[in-house]
Amino acid sequence: MIEKRQFYINGAWVDPIEGADHHVIDPSTEEPCAVISMGGQADADAAVAAAKAAFPAWMNTPVEERIALVEKFLEVYQRRNDEMGEAISLEMGAPIDMAKASQAGAGSYHAANFLRAAKKFDFFKPLGDHAPNDRIAMEPIGVCALITPWNWPMNQVVLKVIAAAIAGCTMVLKPSEESPLNALLFAEFMDEAGFPAGVFNLVNGDGMGVGAALTGHKDVDMVSFTGSTRAGIAISQNAALTLKRVHLELGGKGANLLFADADDKAVKRGVRHMMENSGQSCNAPSRMMVQREIYDRVVDEAAEIANSTKVASAHESGRHIGPVVNEAQWNKIQGLIQKGIDEGARVVAGGLGRPEGLNKGFFVRPTVFADVNNDMTIAREEIFGPVLSIIPFDTEEEAVEMANDTVYGLTNYVQTQDGGRANRIARQFRSGMVEINGNSRGAGAPFGGMKQSGNGREGGTWGIEDFLEVKSIAGWTEE
Ligand code: NAD
Repeated sequence: MIEKRQFYINGAWVDPIEGADHHVIDPSTEEPCAVISMGGQADADAAVAAAKAAFPAWMNTPVEERIALVEKFLEVYQRRNDEMGEAISLEMGAPIDMAKASQAGAGSYHAANFLRAAKKFDFFKPLGDHAPNDRIAMEPIGVCALITPWNWPMNQVVLKVIAAAIAGCTMVLKPSEESPLNALLFAEFMDEAGFPAGVFNLVNGDGMGVGAALTGHKDVDMVSFTGSTRAGIAISQNAALTLKRVHLELGGKGANLLFADADDKAVKRGVRHMMENSGQSCNAPSRMMVQREIYDRVVDEAAEIANSTKVASAHESGRHIGPVVNEAQWNKIQGLIQKGIDEGARVVAGGLGRPEGLNKGFFVRPTVFADVNNDMTIAREEIFGPVLSIIPFDTEEEAVEMANDTVYGLTNYVQTQDGGRANRIARQFRSGMVEINGNSRGAGAPFGGMKQSGNGREGGTWGIEDFLEVKSIAGWTEE
């Protein structure tokens, strides 16, 4: 059993002040795989105090030096990438090959994108020719609380920590209690890279404990949170009492519009994307909306692809999908599948229970529902499991209206050979991101949502801006 009870505070590994043991469960076996400590208010206070003390010096460290430390960090990360993949796979159930390539790989990808953006970023600039003595200074917000989920853990940790560090902020990271091992390893990378004491701190704990202690803390200037809409609301309410800035990256219920002229890989792409990471992605294209004339064919094809999606232990090599993260999530998904059946949707692949031959582990059958309408619970709630809903439509207007008829607005997708139509729809979607015909967004493109999917933007230039204040200076003397 892995034992990792310490926290990383002020540049050192320290024992918890208020720690209680917490077992991390391997979702492939349902057995405990590690024990960590859940901290409390006193641990959060110690970490915030360290971050606060480190802030003045870090803020005034030339950006070139901050960039050089991130470059060092990236070297360490790339060298130890496989260890990161192993930790993620063990604790949240991403299959080992995918965990090393995509899950761990996301961390180095984002760090490299931040470096590119940082080298071009203007932290100090003139307002314009009309106001020659005005300057705009982009300055770090201060002490940040970074709270992250378990589903793409390193993706989220790097998107927050590295952007905050480049901006000149100091921080306390509280990773998900479901997946703390990858974040503890990340802290080792930060330590090895040589960041000054107090710039980066890590405390483990749950939402009600360390999470609430941080989001309500008087010395925390900003909260950057990724997770459920439920927790996003609780955090916003708690943070409102000290009026701190709150950036939220929340859930989604992505629409994927398939027109009759969609390319012949569109169905496969849509189903595979839905099933990837066992459906535990905020940007999953979970509502496949299909033009009526190709509807029957698409339903058959989607069922076939789901049926051929292999489910197996995260410890096995290969291109299967793994379990979902924990028992609560497994039960929630089963409940929603049942709800889909009760409300009259037609199961064309998968369904209730575990896949054949898998009696232990939080495994879910890759499931496709046909004849869904946009008012059903399975079309409205984020399921966060390998469950696709297929909804027919007749006209472009109807499809766009249904796509936007959700409280979420993270990523929407459109598949058509008609470029004019794709562009038109891309502009009509009420979502922070749009992907047309399987094109994934470029390196450093901003990630974030509209409506109840959140308000921040992460990655590249926008991700750095998220951690900056804009200072306007009049009467500047050119020296
Ligand atoms: P969660 O909201 O339960 O937990 C996320 C983190 O918040 C954890 O670290 C948890 O301990 C903490 N937390 C929970 N309640 C809190 C509270 N009241 N105060 C402070 N902290 C609190 O979410 P999860 O189940 O870990 O992650 C899945 C969710 O994350 C999904 O809804 C998914 O869509 C969303 N997500 C969004 C994005 C995005 O960028 N939009 C990316 C990944 C995941």
